[in-house]
Amino acid sequence: MDTKTDNYIEICPGCLACYNQGRLTFYWFRITKDTTLKQIEQALDIEEIHRKAKTPYACGGDEVHIQDNDFCGGEYMSAKELFGYVQLLKLIPNFDYVRAFKNIYLMEDEFYYPEGNHEVEVSSMFKEYAESVQVFDSQNDVDIYLDDTFTEINNIDYSKNVHNYIDWEKVRRDLMYDYKKTEVNSKIYLWREI
Ligand SMILES: [Zn+2]
Repeated sequence: MDTKTDNYIEICPGCLACYNQGRLTFYWFRITKDTTLKQIEQALDIEEIHRKAKTPYACGGDEVHIQDNDFCGGEYMSAKELFGYVQLLKLIPNFDYVRAFKNIYLMEDEFYYPEGNHEVEVSSMFKEYAESVQVFDSQNDVDIYLDDTFTEINNIDYSKNVHNYIDWEKVRRDLMYDYKKTEVNSKIYLWREI
């Protein structure tokens, strides 16, 4: 199964004290668009981690350490921060869309942190991206899309054969100044510059 194209991400909550004592106490936890904040908090609970890892809770540790994840996240993500990803997953068909976004923008541009509270919200930048991004199987499909876009914008009448006189390479190059493009898992993600 190709996990990268499914609509979930996985984290590996672990116990930092055990880790420092040379013992790997962790388990894999899957986050989907239906995961609640409560479930994530539970998943990051230190006793839950030992239960799931089948390791006696004898270390006395209380610090959670995300020992691995499949989306380039950090080692010390909080439950609320992780719940931010749930909100992203609700806006897109699968997590590759987030990977494509992150190929172009900085880490955490997908979130913002409103002043005065500690909730994580999806940035307007990501929302616009989620609404406008298009996915193509090949560069040829992208070219066809750009040509159609140009034709539409300029109201070109094909019956008059004018398309024979258009420099399509230049058209595509010029149009691409307004777009961002990146490739994830053999798909091309294209969206208008935000
Ligand atoms: Zn431990």
